[in-house]
Amino acid sequence: MTLFFDGFIFFLGAVFGSFLNVCIHRVPKGESVVKPGSRCPECLKPIRWFDNIPVLSFLALRGQCRNCGVKISPRYFLVELSSGGFWLGLWKLYGFSGFSAAGVILFSILLVVSATDFETGFIPDKLTFPGMAAGFLLSALFPALQGESLWYRGELKSLLGFVAGGGILLAIGFFGNWIFKKESMGGGDIKLIAMLGAFLGVEKVLLVFLFAPLAAIPFALYMKFARKAETIPFGPFLALAGALLFVYGDWIGKTLFYF
Ligand SMILES: [Zn+2]
Repeated sequence: MTLFFDGFIFFLGAVFGSFLNVCIHRVPKGESVVKPGSRCPECLKPIRWFDNIPVLSFLALRGQCRNCGVKISPRYFLVELSSGGFWLGLWKLYGFSGFSAAGVILFSILLVVSATDFETGFIPDKLTFPGMAAGFLLSALFPALQGESLWYRGELKSLLGFVAGGGILLAIGFFGNWIFKKESMGGGDIKLIAMLGAFLGVEKVLLVFLFAPLAAIPFALYMKFARKAETIPFGPFLALAGALLFVYGDWIGKTLFYF
């Protein structure tokens, strides 16, 4: 029974993942995410319900459109799989709680931000601004997110995290521009980390600064030497570090930094 229910939660998450895929495809173009329904990005033919079953349809059709045979990006499959994965993981860790609700909202935004940054090289305000609002609101509704029991203390910590996250990256950006005489940090990255600060508070958002480059450096070296690419998107690594600290931040803080 538990297995059946876990499968159901995963499936719900994967269904939600197909909606996130629509957001990744349409938000950067400024299109509606509600209408029209799912279409093949190539031949624009509407996708029928049995070809639109998350994770499974991609495997059954071997990543091709049934109508025109164009290769569908594995991103569709990966986003559905990740969304199902974190719905199940959050459910297992936190059950039916404010942590699960905040986790689903935060991770969904981070997933869309990461895929969009990888594909287009920029992070739309349409993703980070609602994310900041969600961080403020959820910290007041569920102050336990910020390790507090009173709503205004949760809110205060969220605001401080927001200012610390955005402010430090802004300072690094100015410093980087001054030294390298070029844009070293995108405005989208600054808004993303400010958003993470609103969810995580000051201590954990400071740890994001530590962990995100650690994750990005091996990838940056690979891209520079194997692929001859000069720049890499930093958003996905900020997102990865943010998600890690949302779940393990308290443990990492206590174990490594004694706070
Ligand atoms: Zn097609």
